[in-house]
Amino acid sequence: MRPTRALVDLEAIGHNMRAFCRLAGGAKVMAIVKADAYGHGAVPVARAALKNGAAFLGVAIPEEAFELRDARITSPILILGSRCEDVAQELAALNISQTVFDIETLAVLETAARAAGRRAKIHLKVETGMNRLGILPGKALEEWLDALQACPHIELEGMFTHFADADGAQEDYTLTQAQRMAQAVAQVRARGFAPIVHACNTAGILRFAQFDYDMVRAGIGLYGYPPVEPPEGTVFKPALTWRSEVAFIHDLHAGERISYNGIYTAKTPRRVATLPVGYADGYNRLLSNTGFVLIGGQRAPVIGRVCMDQCMVDVTDIPSVKVGDEAVLLGQQGAQRLNAEEMAQLCGTISYEILCNIGKRVPRVYYGE
Ligand SMILES: *Cc1c(COP(=O)(O)O)cnc(C)c1O
Repeated sequence: MRPTRALVDLEAIGHNMRAFCRLAGGAKVMAIVKADAYGHGAVPVARAALKNGAAFLGVAIPEEAFELRDARITSPILILGSRCEDVAQELAALNISQTVFDIETLAVLETAARAAGRRAKIHLKVETGMNRLGILPGKALEEWLDALQACPHIELEGMFTHFADADGAQEDYTLTQAQRMAQAVAQVRARGFAPIVHACNTAGILRFAQFDYDMVRAGIGLYGYPPVEPPEGTVFKPALTWRSEVAFIHDLHAGERISYNGIYTAKTPRRVATLPVGYADGYNRLLSNTGFVLIGGQRAPVIGRVCMDQCMVDVTDIPSVKVGDEAVLLGQQGAQRLNAEEMAQLCGTISYEILCNIGKRVPRVYYGE
């Protein structure tokens, strides 16, 4: 196996899942495992989450749901954000729930479900302020409910909305969204439906427990990176360690440049380690001359441009370093830790993108089951 790999601690996933179950009180928890479980590997993470209390799995697209069913995972699964008409029959046959955010889709699903001899399970997406996908409360929702009542093969299993600013500095936008959601819930219940209501993502769970409803959707916190401070006594553990190994060591004289375009010139003699990891593995090119890795329990700065398959780090101050030594890109080594939030800040992004971008060719290794 390549020395550049991602080690995923399934006990940390289990720990984080149990923390969400405690925080959610009596509400169910949907474990969000879209984007290959934020780069951690959908099937092993889904199994660990289900073992530790998840009631539902959430994915983004049908292919992600099929991967879970192919692995014989039988739990409820919801596809959160994708049109699915072309696979409507398969979804009904595999008991996979999908999100509906317009009227037209209802007729298509009714026909497909009838043909499959099943009921199509749907969750209604309510537009409350994200302005991405959803039906507006009020007149549009009344019309949608009229259409739904003409579809005996569709089961309204759930309804949900998504908070746009649950991690923001002010609470007011989320409070307004929740008011609109309350109106939508009242409209739906007035027609005699009793769907599972859900709204909160990780930040919502941590800051707006009053809007937990019947279920919450736990994503980034499951991987150990809550975007807002968790309550006293709750600790989320980063589950992924991204490591590589020193492939080569060489010396630079003062005045020599390194890597493409010479954006780094040695001012004094430097000892350099080359690592077999680059932007094709998801190690962001914005870390050129900016990032750090851990070698020998110390921080070694990335120097020069990150290449597609390799990058170079300055190990002048780590005299014991030798070929084959471990280099940690994300995670703990000795007393030092590099986390995805710090790396994200250096790249002008968020931990989510750092984790999702860890490439396909980086093998995932699991431990701690
Ligand atoms: C991705 C996603 C989530 C999870 O959000 P986190 O911030 O990672 O907890 C929840 N709900 C929906 C609709 C999503 O698309």
